[in-house]
Amino acid sequence: MSGVWVFVENRDGAISTISKEAIGAARLVADELGEDLTGLVFGENVSSVADAAFDLGCDEVFGANDETLKDGRVEALGPLVVELAQEHEPDVIMAGASILGRDLTAWTAADLDAGLLSDCTALEVDDETVKVTRPVYAGKLLSTVFVTEGVQVISLRSRAFAQAQSTGNTGTVEWVDAVVEEDDIPSKVVGIEEKSSGVSLTDANIIVSGGRGVGGPEGFQPLRELVQTLGAALGASRAAVDAGWIPYEHQVGQTGKTVSPDLYIACGISGAIQHQAGMRTSKIIVAINKDPDAPIFKLAQYGIVGDLFDVVPALTEEFSSRL
Ligand SMILES: Cc1cc2nc3c(=O)[nH]c(=O)nc-3n(C[C@H](O)[C@H](O)[C@H](O)COP(=O)(O)OP(=O)(O)OC[C@H]3O[C@@H](n4cnc5c(N)ncnc54)[C@H](O)[C@@H]3O)c2cc1C
Repeated sequence: MSGVWVFVENRDGAISTISKEAIGAARLVADELGEDLTGLVFGENVSSVADAAFDLGCDEVFGANDETLKDGRVEALGPLVVELAQEHEPDVIMAGASILGRDLTAWTAADLDAGLLSDCTALEVDDETVKVTRPVYAGKLLSTVFVTEGVQVISLRSRAFAQAQSTGNTGTVEWVDAVVEEDDIPSKVVGIEEKSSGVSLTDANIIVSGGRGVGGPEGFQPLRELVQTLGAALGASRAAVDAGWIPYEHQVGQTGKTVSPDLYIACGISGAIQHQAGMRTSKIIVAINKDPDAPIFKLAQYGIVGDLFDVVPALTEEFSSRL
């Protein structure tokens, strides 16, 4: 067994941010192990994506162009990864822990009877083994885990690793065929709708989030102004989503998105454990809350005890004048 593989998620000819992070992390692992890094670039018309994977540091690329591979269906992508892995026996298979990346790594590990390390936030190579850190118990504990034998399948949390940068590297793609025909794929894609507008929550450097404390849909307006000033993304607690004040795609937490921005500003959010599960790994957390005993203050590096309707506009004004 040898080689480190990384799945390169792509759409409309572009590599996703989380996959650029995965390539960066996989490159470090390959270098530590003294092995080649192979990118897996599957989709429709992905020649330019394959070139970009070389440029981001892949030594080799397996490419596949097929209509069945374009919509991110794990029933089409998974068997191709598994068949290639059975033939070439890589040491490590990595992917970003996006929705597709989680599905794909689970599928691959199950079919290869391999160990799966999911949603990792840090990693190191110890001898021949990749040891990863992953949050457990809703992020309250960090566990260090490794796979004892066989291929090591690993998914990486968004924004936990630096993105691979352009290297100027080029190479020749090894093209392979899809292994499942459309008629044999049990799910059909009837349409794809772009849901989020503005900066995506999982890619954002800065997130401003609102909870029940905003008091209603209109209470998000001052947060939106701060979001715009900072070039941030807008998040929300489940209480605000369940009340119908903001769509689910903004929800952060155990049953929403997991985010790790550089800065997370929680406004009128108490800091329930289920909310913390989605934002605990943020680098800097700022809490704005009327209640000095709100649990969010135990997690936050900076706390402002006050009414968000006073504090948030004051922050927006100050940032507007400084930026
Ligand atoms: C299985 C399960 C899964 C869950 N998943 C999630 C999840 O993914 N994400 C999530 O967020 N929750 C989740 N929850 C719900 C979670 O337990 C909490 O109920 C929820 O996070 C509370 O949201 P909140 O902090 O906005 O509301 P509250 O707990 O009601 O807090 C509102 C806060 O606003 C403050 N406030 C009020 N007015 C103002 C003001 N004008 N200025 C400043 N502060 C003000 C209050 O002091 C209070 O601290 C889940 C629960 C369960 C059981």
